[in-house]
Amino acid sequence: MTLTIGSLRAERGQKTRGSLPADLGTTTVEVPLILVNGSRPGPRVVITSGVHGGEFIGVDATTRLAGALEPDEVAGQVVICPVANPPAVYGGRLNISPLDGVNINRVFPGDKDGGPTDRMAAWLFEHLIDGADAYVDLHSGGIDQHLLDFVGYRLTSDAELDAKNKAMAHAVGYERVIYGTSAADGNSHAAANRQGVPAILVETGQLGDRAPATVRRLLDALYRLLHHLGVIEASQHVKPPTVPPREWIWTGEVESPVAGLWYPDAVTGDEVTEGQGIGRVIDPVDGAEHKVAAVSTGTIIYSMNGLSVRPGTHLAAIAAPHH
Ligand SMILES: [Zn+2]
Repeated sequence: MTLTIGSLRAERGQKTRGSLPADLGTTTVEVPLILVNGSRPGPRVVITSGVHGGEFIGVDATTRLAGALEPDEVAGQVVICPVANPPAVYGGRLNISPLDGVNINRVFPGDKDGGPTDRMAAWLFEHLIDGADAYVDLHSGGIDQHLLDFVGYRLTSDAELDAKNKAMAHAVGYERVIYGTSAADGNSHAAANRQGVPAILVETGQLGDRAPATVRRLLDALYRLLHHLGVIEASQHVKPPTVPPREWIWTGEVESPVAGLWYPDAVTGDEVTEGQGIGRVIDPVDGAEHKVAAVSTGTIIYSMNGLSVRPGTHLAAIAAPHH
């Protein structure tokens, strides 16, 4: 079957590279795409990275994967988008777009009549995510964030979809598989789920890391996932995970109540209990101190390393092993 996205086409057995324009209202951006149309039938798998800026590992890994995957070793169709949100990736290296200050991973499936970031999300959703048989979105801790590698998935009201999400999440082979109890929000994988598309989030690396060893860790994970989905055969590319995956559940997110300077007392990897002080936000004008407490018990999976924070900045996200 021919693989067609916009004006890009890949016939069966063909790899096509190109870019497509996305009209964001105030500007138009070019979205890079690599279409690998396998020589045998199989699922359509869509992989995005660069949904946020400043998260380099996924961008590097998808670029390498796009170069390495050949149609004659692929069953099905692999659609790779290494830079899904060009304004954020090239313009600011932040999780918000320099065009409008919006975090795209809070607004999926987007709005094609909305602001630039809403339109970007809508473009990605319409052209890539909707209609996929499996979708994986690659992230990292931001340039100012500590993060432990993890895979995220959501529970939905559809048991069959839940089983597919969970199986994909485990196939990645990371130790922490963290589920959320609802798919109601604007994350890309949650919005995909609401459209019936099995989808996961894979978080790899932190603090602007671009180290080859970290990229390798993600590439190994992607090969395991593609093997699980039936896209590639077991080969020297597919290495077993080094630790067995374990189920965790999100228990809480701590946001800064005010603008100021963040002095953490607990950091990523620490175990905290509900109500425990995990840091202070200091007002640089008068030294006034806002104490910040853990909203739940568990392990800090990612946390803010940056000094300056504003109201709503995520200071810590907490998850606990599922028993
Ligand atoms: Zn991200």
